[in-house]
Amino acid sequence: MRIPLIAGNWKMHKTAGDARELARAVKEGAVDVSDRQIAMAPPFTALAAVAEEIRGSRLILAAQNVHWEQKGAFTGEISVPMLEDAGCGMVIIGHSERRQYFGETDATVNRRLRAVLASRLQPIVCIGETLEQRESGKHHTVVQQQLAGGLDGLTRPGLLRIILAYEPVWAIGTGRTASPEIAQEMHSMVRGWLSGEFGDEAQEVRILYGGSVKPDNIDDLMRQPDIDGALVGGACLEPDSFLRIIHFRP
Ligand code: PEP
Repeated sequence: MRIPLIAGNWKMHKTAGDARELARAVKEGAVDVSDRQIAMAPPFTALAAVAEEIRGSRLILAAQNVHWEQKGAFTGEISVPMLEDAGCGMVIIGHSERRQYFGETDATVNRRLRAVLASRLQPIVCIGETLEQRESGKHHTVVQQQLAGGLDGLTRPGLLRIILAYEPVWAIGTGRTASPEIAQEMHSMVRGWLSGEFGDEAQEVRILYGGSVKPDNIDDLMRQPDIDGALVGGACLEPDSFLRIIHFRP
C-alpha cells in the first residue's frame, strides 16, 4: 500500500515569521486529513520555527538539501545530524534547481542519498528531463541514467525507504504541467526500471509528480495509477492552494 504524500518545497521563500504563519494555517487546515502524508520543506533558517509550530501534528518537516559528511569544514553546508536535530523527517535530494544552478550531479545525489539512508531521515530523490532532452526523444534514457547514478549501490531495505519525485524540468515553475498521461507514462517507466533492478519491491516505492501542480490539476494527476503524490513548489506558498492540493479528490 502506497500512502499518498503531498510535499511542499518552499524553495528560497519565507522568513521564520512568515513560515510560522504558513505552517500554522496548513496545520489547522489539514486536521481532517488522515489517509495521506503531508510534508513541508521550508528554508534552513525557518526549520526551527516550523518544527515548533507543527509539533504534535501529523505534518512532516522536510529540508531542501543536505551534505553527505556528518560535520567538518564545509562552509555553508548542513549535515544529516543537524537536520535530525532540527526535527526533520524527510529531505529533498537532487532537485533540478540544484542540478541546474549549483553543480549537482548524479554522483553527488548518490553521496547524499547514502548519508541519508544511514540515518532515520527519508530521502525524496528528484529526477526529470529538460525540454530539449524530451524533444530529442531522450527523456527515458536521461531519467534512467539519473536513476542508475543517483541510486547506485541502493539495497532492497534502502529502496523501501526512498521516495522518488519525477519532475520534468520544463514543467517546474513554468505553469506548464505534464498532462496526467505524460506523467503516468514516465512514472510507469520509472517503476518498470525499479522492477528490473529490484523486483516486486518496486511496487512499494512512492513516486511523486512535480511540476506546476495546482489546485485545478491535482485531482487528475492523482487518478493515475503510478502517481503517489506531489512535490509542490509555487502552489505551496499560499495556504488556500496548498490545502486544496492536500485535499485532492482521486
Ligand atoms: C518544485 O519546486 O519541485 C516544483 C515542482 O515547483 P513548481 O510546483 O512551482 O513547478
